[in-house]
Amino acid sequence: MQDQIKGKVAIITGASSGIGKAIAKKLAEHGVKVVLGARRIEQLKNIAEEIVTNGGEAMVMQTDVTQRADLQQLVAAAVEKFGQLDVIINNAGIGQLSRIDELDVDGWDQMIDVNLKGVLYGIAAAIPVFKQQNAGHIINVISTSGIKIVPEQGVYAGTKNAVRTISEAFRQESDGRIRITGISPGVVKTDLATNIKNEVMKTAILENMEKSAIHPDAIANAVVYAMSQPLDVEIGDIVIRPSVQR
Ligand code: NDP
Repeated sequence: MQDQIKGKVAIITGASSGIGKAIAKKLAEHGVKVVLGARRIEQLKNIAEEIVTNGGEAMVMQTDVTQRADLQQLVAAAVEKFGQLDVIINNAGIGQLSRIDELDVDGWDQMIDVNLKGVLYGIAAAIPVFKQQNAGHIINVISTSGIKIVPEQGVYAGTKNAVRTISEAFRQESDGRIRITGISPGVVKTDLATNIKNEVMKTAILENMEKSAIHPDAIANAVVYAMSQPLDVEIGDIVIRPSVQR
């Protein structure tokens, strides 16, 4: 089944670290031509170099998902280089976790801009190409934070559940030629927590990650699975969490 994805072209946002990086490398191993977007261009270049050294195909473009034009340019560059775009994986995300009454309004704005508007900009950039091709696949990386609601993750979970809601509406609107998949990871060992401003929160999340986090490859495997299905099969939602996560 996995050979079915060989030769496909996939954009991955937030490909410079963590889950996005793992997805990029895994897809490239399966013969997917990967287009990597994120702000840290040096990291992207290193990942692409590794992929090419291992016989894969990759291109990079500095991309800030809060900028609609950046996503439009990323999609255009992918089509120009590889002649098509089969999948966009909207993975870029940040988690400024804090209590709501701490009023980290800047953190809320950042999460809305990256986790929600960034995904919408990716979708908006890809849909015209998918319509022209009569085929396409949107994969959104969401979170178990939106499934089990817990304190200190309210706004983060809100942005993730907004994506879940929008994805479901799109699924119903689509005539099936454009498929949409939501992947909700639980605790995964990445750099996500290192940018948390609230030190107490950061320490707690890092400790939790140390104890129970799973490898980002678990998420990359799910992307391969979702992409490997025949055109008449759509994988809707996948939840992947550590076996011990409650
Ligand atoms: P990382 O911090 O390792 O990766 C986040 C990625 O997002 C980086 O590549 C970063 O790249 C990118 N990013 C952040 N802001 C922007 C921006 N404005 N424009 C473009 N790219 C941006 O964390 P993860 O790998 O864990 O996160 C990936 C996704 O997985 C996120 O959506 C996250 O919410 C989700 N997730 C993670 C979980 C976990 O436990 N790790 C659990 C559930 C969901 P750069 O800084 O170079 O721009």
